[in-house]
Amino acid sequence: MTAEKILLCVLDGISDRPCPEFGYRTPLQAAHTPNLDTLAREGICGIMDTIAPGIRPGSDTAHLSLLGYPPERYYTGRGPLEAEGCGIHMERGMIGFRVNYATIDDEGIVTDRRAGRISDTGALSRAIQEEVDLSSLGVEFVFRSGAGHRAALAFRGEGLGAAVSSNDPKKEGAILHRFEALTSKPEDRKTAEALNEFARQAGEILREQPLNQEREKRGDQPANMVLIRGAGQMGHYEPFNEKYGMKGSVIAAATLITGIGTVVGLTRVDVQGITGSANTNLEGKIRATISELEKADFVLLNIKGADEAGHDGNAQKKKEFIEVIDQALAPLQDLENCLIAFCADHSTPCSVKDHSGDPVPLLIHGEGVRVDGVDRYDEIACAGGGLHRIRGEYLMPVLLDLVNRSRKYGA
Ligand code: ZN
Ligand code: ZN
Repeated sequence: MTAEKILLCVLDGISDRPCPEFGYRTPLQAAHTPNLDTLAREGICGIMDTIAPGIRPGSDTAHLSLLGYPPERYYTGRGPLEAEGCGIHMERGMIGFRVNYATIDDEGIVTDRRAGRISDTGALSRAIQEEVDLSSLGVEFVFRSGAGHRAALAFRGEGLGAAVSSNDPKKEGAILHRFEALTSKPEDRKTAEALNEFARQAGEILREQPLNQEREKRGDQPANMVLIRGAGQMGHYEPFNEKYGMKGSVIAAATLITGIGTVVGLTRVDVQGITGSANTNLEGKIRATISELEKADFVLLNIKGADEAGHDGNAQKKKEFIEVIDQALAPLQDLENCLIAFCADHSTPCSVKDHSGDPVPLLIHGEGVRVDGVDRYDEIACAGGGLHRIRGEYLMPVLLDLVNRSRKYGA
């Protein structure tokens, strides 16, 4: 018997370095994880450089690599992926940007880069979409709200470039920047000009919005400006189902990860109450994953939260969240006809408070795998496993081979 389906479960930023709080064990080593440990005992383990040894991956570049789209060939910046994740269909050549709603004062000083962490921006984004007009510049745009204070923007038009600066001064108390072309190419100058015009018009429209006037009355920060960054030109991604002959879906709280899924042709599955933080609806995510696997051949499931604790440098919180994840994974033990791979997209050591190039633990469970002697899922135990040390771009080939979908090379 061979499994037919594949679940790739990315435990975002779960791996770490030794922490003094735990007698120099990692949070994953210190955590009580009976479900992951059972899967490790019944599966094959290893460690993985999601991009290459010593490279510190972003979540975006790492996920591209894990899906078999090497970032050095495919990655054109975060903007187009965020735009996709916010529901904008990015066509080849379009320029995508990430956006924050922000607050500026009358002098143009940024007083809050997140507009008081505003969360209900739908009406604001609709007003921008309806009222901003860039037709005199020959540019069409799509603007959509994302989670919280976030949004995304995409430009479509002839002769647009992506080498442009941001209007975000990156700190509060500083003046809003103007967009500049980073080269002397007319394409980049045209994009910078369109961005300056877009931000000017958007600012005027936002000031007039009833929602902002109500916020000001309540003493909340109005969302009266958009900070735009992460410009990138949408490239071409060979569709996942053509590349692998499998129909796939993506389940993730982060728009960036959903966007990566949809740019390669995975179907997004929305789950109520998923936040990407420790209070996320994990049970709902697991239930959605199991029901999606009845229809799809492949599911990419991203579970965030441990990454956030790593960025906060909070080893105790990270350990506790790992235990919550482990409990939520229990129903996956009963999955039939499915190969499950667990890994991280990168390590997020509490001592670094950011991503590091340390390899991540990898576990593959399911029919047909050569069970090795590893009986715990953690960075150290997995390093002794039968998969040894592989690169992220080899994960899909290994999984496809285990479900007998690999094409023979030679006679
Ligand atoms: Zn990540
Ligand atoms: Zn992170």
